[in-house]
Amino acid sequence: MRAGTCKSCGAAIVWIPTPGGKAMPCDAAPAYYIAKPKSGSKRIVTPNGEVLACEYTEDPHRATGTGFIPHWATCPQADRHRRRKNG
Ligand SMILES: [Zn+2]
Repeated sequence: MRAGTCKSCGAAIVWIPTPGGKAMPCDAAPAYYIAKPKSGSKRIVTPNGEVLACEYTEDPHRATGTGFIPHWATCPQADRHRRRKNG
């Protein structure tokens, strides 16, 4: 896992390697999530690089585990992520 900075908004991010060989830019702060494979409206990247459908939670007792929120979900400049191919 590699630390970095979002080129669009300057936020601290981490690059999580995925099984497909790419790296996902995610918010640096880990988040608790509840896995909901069928109904989850949010996405979480696990430390293994798997992307799961989930809901976020603040309650460690209800959480399935901790993961990282994809930065494009929280970046105020997310439009730029979509437009730029080589970031
Ligand atoms: Zn950003």
